[in-house]
Amino acid sequence: MKSTYKLSSKSDMKQYAKDLEQRIKDAAIEEMMSRMYDVTCPTCGTSVKVPVGKSLCPKCGEEIDLQLDIKT
Ligand SMILES: [Zn+2]
Repeated sequence: MKSTYKLSSKSDMKQYAKDLEQRIKDAAIEEMMSRMYDVTCPTCGTSVKVPVGKSLCPKCGEEIDLQLDIKT
């Protein structure tokens, strides 16, 4: 990505808008990936907070695989 943009250039402004959109998307995805989610354990039914990915249920010790459906 370019670090400088000519504000007078139409194509540069287009590129700037595109880059900005991408940056916002990336930040949003990063935020979603780093937070904890309330889920119900599929094995024991306990409400647990887990991060995205694989983690173990604190109650039954079974694996909870949380996948986010992120559209990019
Ligand atoms: Zn469980």
